Amino acid sequence: MKKPRILILGAGYGGLMTAVKLQKKLGVNDASITLVNKHDYHYESTWLHEVAAGTIAPDKARFAIKDIINTSKIDFVQDTVLSIEPDDKKVILEDGELEYDYLVVGLGFEAATFGIPGLLENAFTIGNINQSRLIREHIDYNFAMYNNEKEKKPERLTIVVGGGGFTGIEFLGELANRVPELCKEYDIDRDQVRIINVEGAPTILPGFDPELVEYAMNSLEKRGVEFKLGAMLKECTPDSITFEKDGEQETIATKTTVWAAGVRANSIVEKSGLEHNRGKVEVSPELRAPSHPEVFVVGDCALIMNEETGRPYPPTAQIAMQEAEVCADNLAKLVKGEDELEAFEFINRGTVASLGHSDAMGAVFGDKKLFGFTASLMKKVIDNRSLFKLGGIGLLLKKGKFNIF
Ligand code: FAD
Ligand code: NAD
Repeated sequence: MKKPRILILGAGYGGLMTAVKLQKKLGVNDASITLVNKHDYHYESTWLHEVAAGTIAPDKARFAIKDIINTSKIDFVQDTVLSIEPDDKKVILEDGELEYDYLVVGLGFEAATFGIPGLLENAFTIGNINQSRLIREHIDYNFAMYNNEKEKKPERLTIVVGGGGFTGIEFLGELANRVPELCKEYDIDRDQVRIINVEGAPTILPGFDPELVEYAMNSLEKRGVEFKLGAMLKECTPDSITFEKDGEQETIATKTTVWAAGVRANSIVEKSGLEHNRGKVEVSPELRAPSHPEVFVVGDCALIMNEETGRPYPPTAQIAMQEAEVCADNLAKLVKGEDELEAFEFINRGTVASLGHSDAMGAVFGDKKLFGFTASLMKKVIDNRSLFKLGGIGLLLKKGKFNIF
């Protein structure tokens, strides 16, 4: 009998974790498994703000996919997915096409720019290693240029971060630590540098615990971050942003706008013909696409409703990795001819956000609040846990965060 063909798209938290679990559950003769990813490396998306601020090197946040997968069981194809054709059970790549019996879509997220004029062309986003490296280089370049021009341009030293959600806040925390180093390196007075956060809601981290929000604001303000709250970013040009607050518009001159105000699923999903809800596949409890049950969707491309709140679970690495485990279990069951599949249930282990290298805040184990050093330590434990789950002790020792102080 022909072996079933399992095709996994994307080697992020969802896709790579599915592959790692499947290689443990299935033998070479059970199925032919292929993993496709744009790059030959996996990056820790949850560390990209550190790469963007320049507080860690890009190589720290990535590792070779072939070091993690068992290549005798999984065929790795480095290629870019162009489209999914679920009715024909095939996927079109830049360099060919692949057919499947079972598909796992784990193509992750892209920035949501909501049609705001100039954002797509002029703002930076923290979406992958290349984009993050570009932000770091761009900030460095502008600091270097500042003292090389007769007419000083303060907009070179003004960094605007659009959005005060978790990504924006974690990036601000890193920036607040990095800027003093940059000032020293390029002979610039710290007082000449502005780091500004523009957040549309009346508070940063809307909906999060107010005590933790206040802690984060204080920590960032103490290090020189300015907040514009209730301020909707309306336009971005190469040299400025404009926001609206209380019905008034204000423009800030800046050469660096980093847009961190929301994500959407990879747009390949919306164009695929799979039934979707605002670009994501609202999966069945077994994580299958309702219109095409041989297609599983994990991570930021999947939508799962939280029955308690009536709203979708936020897209996180935490949920992506949990989904991957159930997805791998269910695929293994189907391959072995079992038809009673497992239903996914999210176990919320809490949320901890870093505020730079040695500060953080968050809530774990239900409602246990953590601040400062303890929270920062917990964040590193969480980051290390994800490495361990993907690549075991070897990967943890190679890439782990052990610089606690
Ligand atoms: P991803 O991890 O984004 O992986 C998608 C993969 O698909 C990538 O390898 C990509 O290269 C590949 N790919 C994309 N398009 C193509 C294509 N066309 N062809 C081939 N390959 C392609 N969540 C948390 O739980 N905790 C955190 O602390 C946290 N911090 C974050 C910090 C930042 C700065 C950001 C941006 C996000 C953070 N998140 C965090 C959210 C988390 O990173 C995402 O929810 C998670 O990465 C989603 O996993 P995924 O597998 O769906 O996608
Ligand atoms: P988000 O949607 O959580 O936050 C976006 C923020 O931008 C919101 O506060 C929103 O009010 C604001 N905003 C939207 N439009 C705006 C505009 N025009 N002008 C000004 N502000 C505007 O997005 P995110 O922060 O990118 O996070 C994406 C996902 O990743 C979330 O699920 C988040 O929980 C997760 N994440 C988690 C962590 C963590 O657990 N430590 C860290 C980063 C990201």
